[in-house]
Amino acid sequence: MSKVYITDTLTKEKVPLEPIEPGIVKMYVCGPTVYNYIHIGNARPMVVFDAFRRFLEFIGYKVVMVQNFTDIDDKIINEAKEWGVDWKTVADTFIAEYFHDAHLLGVRAANFHPRTTDFVDDIVNAVQKIIKNGYGYVAANGDVYFSVRKLADYGKLSGKNPDDLRAGARVDVNELKRDPIDFVLWKSAKPGEPTWQSPWCAGRPGWHIECSVMSQKLLGDMFDIHGGGEDLIFPHHEDEIAQSEALTGKPPAKYWMHNGMIIVRGDKMSKSLGNTFLLREAVRRYGKDGVKLFLLSKHYRSPIEFSDDLLDDNSKAALRVHAALNRFREKYPYPLVPKEDEEMKGMIQRFTEALSDDFNTPVALSVIFDALRELNKSMDSGNDERALKMYHLIKRVFGPILGIFDTESPKKSESSAVSTNLDVLIKSLIEVRNEFRKAKQFELADKIRNVLSESGVKLFDTPEGTKYEIIEQERKMEG
Ligand SMILES: [Zn+2]
Repeated sequence: MSKVYITDTLTKEKVPLEPIEPGIVKMYVCGPTVYNYIHIGNARPMVVFDAFRRFLEFIGYKVVMVQNFTDIDDKIINEAKEWGVDWKTVADTFIAEYFHDAHLLGVRAANFHPRTTDFVDDIVNAVQKIIKNGYGYVAANGDVYFSVRKLADYGKLSGKNPDDLRAGARVDVNELKRDPIDFVLWKSAKPGEPTWQSPWCAGRPGWHIECSVMSQKLLGDMFDIHGGGEDLIFPHHEDEIAQSEALTGKPPAKYWMHNGMIIVRGDKMSKSLGNTFLLREAVRRYGKDGVKLFLLSKHYRSPIEFSDDLLDDNSKAALRVHAALNRFREKYPYPLVPKEDEEMKGMIQRFTEALSDDFNTPVALSVIFDALRELNKSMDSGNDERALKMYHLIKRVFGPILGIFDTESPKKSESSAVSTNLDVLIKSLIEVRNEFRKAKQFELADKIRNVLSESGVKLFDTPEGTKYEIIEQERKMEG
C-alpha cells in the first residue's frame, strides 16, 4: 500500500496517513442541516470526500464512512412553521432530496447516515457525563453549557484564543452563561417547539454535541479522519474536540481534513447570504461530470471562485472526454482488458502519486487529459491497441477513482433544450437592455433588470460585459 499524505488542519502539516487500525480508515464527515435543497457549496465536501474514499479503497484500504444529517435545528423549525407541518416532515423531505441529488452527482452513500434525533438518549447521557466530569453546568432556565475555560488548550484547531474570543463576544452577552464563550450542549425549548425529555428541561440538543456522540457511537472514541468544510473549523469542530476531551480525555479524530469554500463575489456560498446555486440546477445545465470537474479541478483545500464561465469550461471539457469515449465505443462495442504495459503503469503511477500527495486532484486530472489526448491520437492513426489502453485507463481506472466518466455520456435531454432556450432568451433581454442604456432610456433598462430579478435572474455589469446568474428561488408554499 503506497503512503498517503494529507494536510492535517490541527498541526497544519502534511503528514502520512497512518490509520489507528492498519488497513482500515474510519472517517466522519459533517453533513447538511436538512431544511432546503443542497447547493453547489454543500456539494463540494460530498464530492471531495467521496472521491478520497474511492481512492483509499483503490489503493487497498477498507473505509468506514459516516455522514450525519442534522435533522433538528432552528431553521428546520422555522421552515416547518412556514409550511404548517411538523419539523419531521421538513427533515424527511430534504433527506430524501439529498439522496436524490447525491445520486444525480454519482456520490455514493456513506456506510452510515445517522440523524440527530435518533441519538437523543445517547446525547443526554453524554451531556450528563460532561457535567459529571466538571466541564458542563446547568443554567437557570435549564440550558446546559460547556465551560470552555475548563480546557487549558481550547482553540487549538482554529488557532483562536479564548481571551480574544471573549473580547469579541462582549457585545453578545447571554446572562445564562458564566462566560460568553461557553457554548450550548442542551437548550430549552421556546413555546411551540418540539421537545425531548432530559434531566434539565424539555428541550433539544445543541448543534455540536450530536457529532461527538454519533461519531463515538459509530466509529469509537477515536477514529482516523474527521472531515468537513473549513467553515466548520470554528466553532463546530473546535467544540467537538472540547466535548470529546471532556468525555474520553482524547480528541475524537487523529487527523482533520477540511475543504475550501465556494466563493461568490468575495463571500462564501451559503443559504443565509442568499447567493447559492442549487446543485440540481448546476447538474441540469452543466452535466454531472462538468460539475464534478469544476469541484475537483482545484485542490480541495483551495477556495473556488464560482463562475458560470468556469462551470461552462468544465462542462465542455467533460463533453470532450465523453465524445472520445463514445467514438471508441462505436468502433469497439466490446472492449476487452488490455495487457498493462510500461506506459500504462507509468500513467497509473503518476495518477496515484498525485492523489497520495495531499489528494492533488488537479494533477490527477491532468493525467486523465493526457490519456484523452493519446486516445484521440491513437484512434486517428488507427493504433487500436493503444487506443484500448487509453480508453481502459480513463473509463475503468481513473474515472471510477474520482467518480467521473463512469456513466454513459449525457444525451441531449428535453430539460437541457429548455435550459439552452432560457439562456438565449436571457441573453436577448440583456442585449435589449444594453440598447436602452446606450440610448439613455434608463427607466426601460431598469425595468428589464427588475423583471429578470423578480424571476430570479441577477445581472452583473462587468468590464467584459453583462453576465447573469440564476439565483436560488425562494420555495415558499402559498397559503
Ligand atoms: Zn458535525
